[in-house]
Amino acid sequence: MSTFGSAESGSIEADRRGYDRAGAVATSFDVEAIRRDFPVLDQEVDGRPLVYLDSAASSQKPRQVIDAVAGYYLRDHANVHRGVHELARRATEAYEGARARIAEWIGATGPGELVWTRGTSEALNLAAFSVGQARVGHGYEIVISEMEHHSNIVPWQLLAARSGAKLRYAALTDDGLLDLDHLAGLLGPRTRVVSLCHVSNALGTINPVAEIGELVRDRTDAIYILDGAQGVPHMRVEVASIGCDLYAFSGHKMCGPTGVGGLWGRRELLEELPPYQGGGEMIERVYRDRSTWAEPPHKFEAGTPNIAGAVGLAAAIDYLDGIGIDSIHRHETELVAHAVAGLSRIDGLRILGPAGIERRGGVVPFVIEGVAAQDMGTILDVQGIAVRAGHHCAQLVVDRYGVEATARASFYLYNTHEEVERLVEAVANARRILME
Ligand code: PLP
Repeated sequence: MSTFGSAESGSIEADRRGYDRAGAVATSFDVEAIRRDFPVLDQEVDGRPLVYLDSAASSQKPRQVIDAVAGYYLRDHANVHRGVHELARRATEAYEGARARIAEWIGATGPGELVWTRGTSEALNLAAFSVGQARVGHGYEIVISEMEHHSNIVPWQLLAARSGAKLRYAALTDDGLLDLDHLAGLLGPRTRVVSLCHVSNALGTINPVAEIGELVRDRTDAIYILDGAQGVPHMRVEVASIGCDLYAFSGHKMCGPTGVGGLWGRRELLEELPPYQGGGEMIERVYRDRSTWAEPPHKFEAGTPNIAGAVGLAAAIDYLDGIGIDSIHRHETELVAHAVAGLSRIDGLRILGPAGIERRGGVVPFVIEGVAAQDMGTILDVQGIAVRAGHHCAQLVVDRYGVEATARASFYLYNTHEEVERLVEAVANARRILME
């Protein structure tokens, strides 16, 4: 049904030159070998090989992670911290070992700085609750931005409503960047919290988080929080050198299982903050009228945790580390440059987010005038291509850029340039079908 690829193959070459010009460096990145580690990729949808371009929503899992989770359940499972028997010892070692592995990977000074959560959303809710209790009250201000995922908006709205603090939004520039002048103008002695995304899931923008950290420190005594859901899976993150106080992330976006993630926090801050939820494991001693708390990070971890999830996430980190996060980032940048060059040639297609490839993570959101994003997603699906269509839990972003919704292609280590070409061809086809 398509003529796009064959009729314009010269243009595809031009796209490749486009991403070469964008500064891509030839690497020995063996994407075919990587793909063999991901069993789910080896299937057809509607008679065409699956092209999975929805990793920003959730990444696929390599066999190494699936085996680690299965191995844990097959041999080692028991509850952690409580038992005196062999399996409890093994489960505890695996669970706390996973914490240490991940803490090391993100540049924490020790495992005590890493609180397990169900993911970024829970990490940000924990931050809003505990920081809110300790530091925020009537007359103070919380600064976020128009670029945030709902997970980094709604918990702060709830805190603002509870505490009487004012929620303020840093504006965005027309080309999808955080407006740093506007942000700077919002910061002052009343600012108690600044909470921003490291990388936007709806625009792809990589924010200059260390530079913003300096701004926050210069102008405020605020707690500086980063939503790293789209950061840590895709680029080297050294939490200590960013200069933030708390950093949230999800395991399922970095080849790990669903239902596990974390909140990194500066040790002194974790010591200061009150607990988020009450229950087993987070206490030191319970009396009839009060309780005292365990040391952090356990103070924030009530109840039986997702032990298998932690084990799987540590296996995911080992896997990503084995390939090298810098190589993964470079590969994604090449794919994104290729996709931007190819999609830009389609009539009426507009790509949201920063023009400069170096400011864009692995996300390419686009709209075509006169075509509903949902219809675009559906037509891509019948061509075997999985993208997400909608507001991507970032309603303020689509409002800001005057669109209802976008289709979003997002890339990860297992995607190929051939898949980018299939995407471009399929979007051109979909446009033709939907505009006729
Ligand atoms: N923040 C950003 C930037 C995201 O992209 C997402 C998920 O898409 C989240 C927060 C929420 O993550 P989770 O659903 O894993 O809690």
